[in-house]
Amino acid sequence: MMRGLVPREFSVAHSLCVFCSSSEAVDGVYVEAAERLGRALGEQGGTLIYGGGNIGLMGRVALATHATGGRVVGVIPRFMEPYEVAYEAADELIWTDTMRQRKALMEQRAEAFVALPGGFGTLEELAEILALKQLRQTNKPLVLLNTAGFYDPLLAFFERLYALRFTKARHRAHYHVITEPRELWPFLDGYEAAAVETKWG
Ligand code: AMP
Repeated sequence: MMRGLVPREFSVAHSLCVFCSSSEAVDGVYVEAAERLGRALGEQGGTLIYGGGNIGLMGRVALATHATGGRVVGVIPRFMEPYEVAYEAADELIWTDTMRQRKALMEQRAEAFVALPGGFGTLEELAEILALKQLRQTNKPLVLLNTAGFYDPLLAFFERLYALRFTKARHRAHYHVITEPRELWPFLDGYEAAAVETKWG
């Protein structure tokens, strides 16, 4: 059982890794959801672990987390430095040499993962956690924030994987879908990792 995220102590134990869009061009419905998530995280004294960007939904989550008293940890690859997309106000800004190092650090430091709407970067991050979970390399919770049905086509594609037997349907247990940020904490508080066999077992 996961501990509640309530105590106001800033530690890895209350860290939420957020994957989300770096786009500035998306509809306001996604921006507002990202801000609601950041605010809820900050109000609970949680720590945001994320890609360290100041742009798109990433920037909105970080600002909202900060504005409500949360801690922000950005993990960003050095090659992005010249583009000035880093959230310099982060409590911790960790520069890594590669994208892979960055993801590994985010994974280590987070207690749970949540994917907000996003593009290829977000998809890759979310798919990596799924692949790790089905090989039992992590049992941390993974939640998809399905704002305005954003993830419906992806979830339908997952069903296709099960139907066509590319993936065993028991791996459905590796992700949980919510429609509103506030649903996240009750889920995390009650989370017990599913004892799902690996893809071979
Ligand atoms: P995308 O969904 O393609 O917009 O990519 C967003 C995801 O990729 C985020 O969750 C980040 O971890 C990573 N990412 C993309 N752009 C940046 C950026 N400028 N700074 C840091 N991380 C980024």
